[in-house]
Formats: sequence, C-alpha cells, structure tokens
Amino acid sequence: MMITPELKVQILDFIKENIGEKQFKAWFKAIDFVEMADNEIQVPLPNVYYRDWYEKHYKTLLISALKTVLDRDYQVRFLVSSPDNQDQTDLFGMPSEAPPKATPKKTPPPQASVGQLNTNYTFDRFVVGSCNRLAHAAALAVAENPAKAYNPLFIHGSVGLGKTHLLQAACWVALKKSPNLKLYYISCENFVNDYIASVKRGACEVFRNKYRSADIVAIDDIHFLGVGEKKGSQEEFFHTFNALHNAQKQIILSSDSPPQEIPTLAERLVSRFKWGMVARLDTPDFELRSAILKQKVELKRVEFPDDVITCIANVIDSNIRELEGAVNKIIATSKLMKQPISLALAQEVLKDIQPGKVYPITINSIQDTVSKYFNIKVSDLQSKKRIKSISFPRQVGIYLARILTNHSLEEIGAGFGGKDHTTVMYSVEKIKQRLHKDQEFKRTVALLTTELKK
Ligand code: ADP
Ligand code: MG
Repeated sequence: MMITPELKVQILDFIKENIGEKQFKAWFKAIDFVEMADNEIQVPLPNVYYRDWYEKHYKTLLISALKTVLDRDYQVRFLVSSPDNQDQTDLFGMPSEAPPKATPKKTPPPQASVGQLNTNYTFDRFVVGSCNRLAHAAALAVAENPAKAYNPLFIHGSVGLGKTHLLQAACWVALKKSPNLKLYYISCENFVNDYIASVKRGACEVFRNKYRSADIVAIDDIHFLGVGEKKGSQEEFFHTFNALHNAQKQIILSSDSPPQEIPTLAERLVSRFKWGMVARLDTPDFELRSAILKQKVELKRVEFPDDVITCIANVIDSNIRELEGAVNKIIATSKLMKQPISLALAQEVLKDIQPGKVYPITINSIQDTVSKYFNIKVSDLQSKKRIKSISFPRQVGIYLARILTNHSLEEIGAGFGGKDHTTVMYSVEKIKQRLHKDQEFKRTVALLTTELKK
C-alpha cells in the first residue's frame, strides 16, 4: 500500500484530533513517514532524544492512526537519521534547525547511546507529597517559564529522594514546550571531566561556547564541585553561571546539601546558588511512601496486596530508590519461588534488605504502649468511653495501628471498641492534622513509634 499525500493528511488529522493543535504543531508538523516492506513505517528523527520521546508518547497513537486510516496493522520504527547525532555522551543538545530528512535504510542504524535523560523521569511519574511539594512546584515552574520563575533553581536533599528525577522532568517539559531549545542536562562530574578534557586539548573556547550558548543548563549533583581540589572547575563554572544568568538563561542545580554546606565551595558560588529558589526534598512520610509504592507496582502491572504495601512502607522509610528496589526484589523472589506475592514473602525479602527492621507490631502491643504512656487502662482503649482523656489516646492508638500495622480499617476499628471504618479514618485524620501543627505532639508520636519498634 502507498501512503499517498491524501492518506497522510488523514493520518495527521487523526493525530491532531487526539492530541490537540498545540502538541500537534510541536511534534507532528514536520514529520515524515517512510513506508517499508512488511508493513513497517519508518519515521526519521533528528536525534536519540526525539526518538525516546516519540517512543514514549506517540508510538501507540501513530499505530492506531495508521490502523484507523489504512485499516492495517503497521509496525512503527523511529530512526535517528544523522550519525552526528548519535554519539552524544555527556550532553544533551537539540539542533536548532528542523529535523533533517532521512534516507530510509533497510538495516537499523547503529544503536545510539541513549544519553542522560531517562524517559521514566517525568512529572507524571513523580508522586507529590508534603516533603517534595515545593521542589516539585518550583521545577515545574522553571520548566514552563525558563529564566522567568526562579533562577537558579537549586534542589537539595539526600540520596534517593528524587533530585535527578525532578531535574530531568523539568528538562522534558521544557523540551516538549520548545523542541528546539538548546538544553544541557549533565552530571557535575561529567561537566568537570568535560572541562578538564577541554583544557588538555587546548579547547577551552569550545567548552565555553557550548555551555554558555545554552538556553537551559541543568547540572546534577553540583556538590561534586566541593569534593577535593576543584578550584579551576569552580572558577569555570562561576563564569558559566554568570554568562547564563546575565543572558537570562535558566540554570537548574541539584545537590546533596544546601549551598552553604557544600565543603570548599567558594563563597561567591554559595551566594549565587541562593539567588533564585532553594528547595529541599525531605524524606517521604508513610503516606507518600505508600502512594509511591502503589504507583511503582501499577507501572509494573503487578498486583501487590495492601498489607504488602503497608509493610514495605513501614520497613523502608528514608529512601525512595530503596522502595523501588524492594518492589523489584519482591517481584523477582515471587517469580523465582513460584509463589504469589504475600505478606509473608515480602517480610522474608525485607528481612534481607533491612535486617532488624521487620518488627512484629500488633494492635495489642500498640495498646500496651499507648496505655502506659497516657496512664490509662488497656481496657479503656478498647471501650466505647467518650471522655477526652480516653478518646484522645484511643485516636493516637488507632493512628499508630493504621501506619504501623497491616490491619484493615475494620480490624483496627474492631480492636478499639468496635468502631466502624469511617470512625477509624476520622481518628487518623484528626491525628494527622494535629501532627502538622503541634511539634510537641509530633515528638510524642515519634517517641511512641520508636518505643514500639524496639
Ligand atoms: P536522587 O537523585 O535524589 O538520588 P533520584 O531522582 O535518582 O534520586 O530518585 C531515586 C528513585 O526514586 C528514582 O527511580 C525515582 O524515579 C524515584 N523517585 C524519587 N522521588 C519520587 C517520587 N516523588 N515519585 C515517584 N518516584 C520517585
Ligand atoms: Mg541523583
């Protein structure tokens, strides 16, 4: 079958209807299809980043457009056309000219390095909670309005909390909005290596022009500038920073510590890093950990029972990467052992990952601890008494049972005086609200939790 110009118009119309005028203009105006044998359509693209983007966002759509218009099942292959664009190792730049037309090849091009942007690190895969709300909002703002919202944006937080994810999500959004943007996403280590190599080659000018002519520069793990002797690199970065900032180009940085705590970082850089927005990523609370876990298992299309989610969220409490690791390991173990994913299986796996953190907290042990702390009787917690000196500790107990055990709302309700699940939810909500505004109370709950985990 030949894709005539008329058919092509119909295919494109179908796509436009599905994604809207704006997206269509950004991504499909200049697109070309090349029909190959065996029902394959090749789509030439300027570089690997385009390819990853289309793979992720538009492949299914293209296939269904072809199916609808031509009533035939096509394979769609995105091809990177120019060899020049295939070996970008440490940088990420978009060509300013339109995607070049490719001559179709029967054999696929040599597999290119996928570069540094991970197609999974997008905003729609970033779960937001109180610990990362500010950093998330700021990253989105700079992506949508480069150099208008905050400049620089400095995101810091300890390992595995989502710094790289946010930086790259911002890059994706900026590129989606303006595909011709000249954008560099680079780790600080690679930036430094690139600089050192250019000094050795006597090609400092090339290095300078490269970064200073960018529209957006995102440097990941900038604290690397403070490791060891990096005077030259700091100096070079200082000038790059100034050039970009003066030209109103967006700078996005991530670091494992706030600017003033990066060792040996020159004072003038410390102060510049604070010019725009400094946003911290905190460790996720139980709720966010559960939400992230649910998202991860959903993406993997695997069923995890609720009690398994609760259990992982309880045991792994400080690093999102480790949450993911646990999910993967549980899935792998379940396959290997040919057993369904269950609480018992999860606990076995978690004991390996975090020995000593899989604790048998029960409703009884919570009632024990809480009653001792508030100086009331266990039977009071299990009663229907509504006097404040008892109902409040009972709410605390219910809250702890909710976040520290794998019991259902109904089971918790039954354990605390035959309450129904809405009452349990109400108690949990009340305690959460109070935790937000009462530091002293927060310490109390932390103390009880530590006690229970002993
Ligand atoms: P960092 O750069 O701070 O060490 P990463 O950005 O590499 O951390 O995040 C570690 C892992 O956790 C990544 O796989 C990332 O996708 C995931 N992750 C981090 N934060 C979130 C979040 N809020 N929602 C979903 N996944 C997240
Ligand atoms: Mg990182």
